[in-house]
Amino acid sequence: MGRPLHIYRSERDVLRVAQIVESSRSEGPGPRFCLWLQGCELRCPGCCNPEMFDFASPLASDVPVATLVARIRSTPGLEGITLLGGEPFHQAPAAGALAAAVHELGLGVMVFSGYDHEDLVDQPQAAALLAHTDLLIAGPFVAGSLSVARPWVGSDNQRVHLLSPRYEGHPELAARRGQSVHVQVQDGELRVSGWPGVVDGIKVRPR
Ligand code: SF4
Repeated sequence: MGRPLHIYRSERDVLRVAQIVESSRSEGPGPRFCLWLQGCELRCPGCCNPEMFDFASPLASDVPVATLVARIRSTPGLEGITLLGGEPFHQAPAAGALAAAVHELGLGVMVFSGYDHEDLVDQPQAAALLAHTDLLIAGPFVAGSLSVARPWVGSDNQRVHLLSPRYEGHPELAARRGQSVHVQVQDGELRVSGWPGVVDGIKVRPR
């Protein structure tokens, strides 16, 4: 049995969201709709998103899953979505519902988690999200093991799990191209995603 998983709420129809970037090329294979979920009790020292620790933060908002699905459906050119945080598995019931709907759209699902895969596989509450995750980056961020060689991964301890065949042999996984940053203007604001070492220097307050 792995570390116990704390679920912040059991509703399947709403997510507490810290930030959305509608189309980033820096948070997984291809263009991705990226959703930073609010709340994380793992509190890794050196985490680049400490403003996303507090689930009740007034800087975050509750967004219906149906609203997110409609927004994803209307965003052109997506390969998939990426869930980051915060800790997506703290909201696994609704995140799983979103991931299932995204699969129904024919898009891929990538998830960053501070839990190791073996922490999650025995947790019934995590099952739906795991079942609809194609690519999982798993494990806590360890500042002393900073990784710059692998795409998307923050520290060397973190593991890349292909939970479906969707990204097997994907050139962006095989390329070992290292980290990148994506900058775009969305809703009149600058949105920056990707490698935190650069993002922290230029990002504006997420919303
Ligand atoms: S699991 Fe992720 S969001 Fe949570 S503290 Fe660690 S790096 Fe930050």
